[in-house]
Amino acid sequence: MSDDNSTPRTFSAPKGTYDLLPPDSATFLAVREAVAGPLRAAGYGYVETPGFEQVELFSRGVGESTDIVTKEMYTLTTKGGDQLALRPEGTASVLRAALQANLHRQGNLPVKLWYSGSYYRYERPQAGRYRHFSQVGAEALGVEDPALDAELIILAADAYRSLGLREVKLVLNSLGDAKCRPGYRAALQEFLRGLDLDEQTRERIEINPLRVLDDKRESVRGQLAGAPMIPDHLCDDCRAYHASVRALLTEAGVPFVDDPRLVRGLDYYTRTTFEFVHDGLGAQSGVGGGGRYDGLSEMIGGPALPSVGWALGVDRIVLALRAEGVTTEVPAATDVYAVPLGEAARSALFPLVTELRRAGVAADFAYGGKGVKSAMKSANRSGARIALVAGDRDLADGVLQLKDLSSGEQWPVQLDQVPTEVRKLLG
Ligand code: ATP
Ligand code: MG
Repeated sequence: MSDDNSTPRTFSAPKGTYDLLPPDSATFLAVREAVAGPLRAAGYGYVETPGFEQVELFSRGVGESTDIVTKEMYTLTTKGGDQLALRPEGTASVLRAALQANLHRQGNLPVKLWYSGSYYRYERPQAGRYRHFSQVGAEALGVEDPALDAELIILAADAYRSLGLREVKLVLNSLGDAKCRPGYRAALQEFLRGLDLDEQTRERIEINPLRVLDDKRESVRGQLAGAPMIPDHLCDDCRAYHASVRALLTEAGVPFVDDPRLVRGLDYYTRTTFEFVHDGLGAQSGVGGGGRYDGLSEMIGGPALPSVGWALGVDRIVLALRAEGVTTEVPAATDVYAVPLGEAARSALFPLVTELRRAGVAADFAYGGKGVKSAMKSANRSGARIALVAGDRDLADGVLQLKDLSSGEQWPVQLDQVPTEVRKLLG
């Protein structure tokens, strides 16, 4: 193999990833903000955790038999010998962080947290399925209350709606708890053992049979028709809890569809489980999902801490907006664009731009000594409403030319009056 570093070569983003660039990246930010704003207003505090964690946090927390852990995790061994994994999801990390900082012992439950960031899964790349993707998530830790499950579901449903999405469907189920789940699990195992399944799936029946219900292959799905269903096996407590969640959603005007087969890809869910799906996205229809995970804390060495949460997929929400033809209103980044014609004008306008920025006006500057034609083109492209144009003659008179870019009107303004005049025009 040649190791010739002198030959220039080009680089592309790695397989299964893409770059977010202007102007599309503005939609991405708008989605994040549309989800995050209402969370903050509902008492959720921002949490940020490392991009990698010990592998074991995920193998215990997400589940040994899940696709995420068996196939999709990016793992690495550090020079010091630690086994780390790039985070494939957020819940285990957020709970780990809360437990480590003892947030749950500060006497103010639930601990409500939200997060936003990059996640990594080694998947087969296709539209809407990437190896690096973004989620905004929310977790409410330490309280078992159907109103808390409802709060989170309502916040997510309202966020999709506020973005202008009309075709997001909420699918709902309950997975039972430590009392009723074992009985259901046994019944399901008995049913599954009688099917014609491959070796790996047969192993899964013994480790986590519910996951078989989540198998996406037609050959498996076809055999599941007569499988025992969770809702028929719920204990009275779980049944009442679920009825309460459903009533609260109905009261809030959030429509949902019951799906007794919804089990989700992670092991840690109990009781309420839900998914938001969008039909315009092909096989990658999930735009968000979550549920209650009352046992997760104990699985990662914490105390009993019943909790509920969700994560919404930002990449897929952007695709859903595109599929529905919704454009998010993204205001122009720049209000004022300064065009200096000559050195003296540069020295006068650059400080003026700084002054405007400090006064809260979004301003930009024609860098690189451009001619007037190319500078005015940049001004128009920036979306600015006002151009400030100055040449030597203007400066000799102590003025610059203020041009209203929407009407094309232009008039001279005294240099010291510019900030006032600009603010008046921008309203
Ligand atoms: P899927 O069934 O499509 O694989 P999932 O159940 O693995 O989804 P979650 O772990 O619940 O997904 O993650 C929450 C959300 O994150 C999903 O609803 C989806 O919008 C998004 N998401 C998950 N994996 C990817 C990915 N590889 N690329 C882009 N978005 C993703
Ligand atoms: Mg997946």
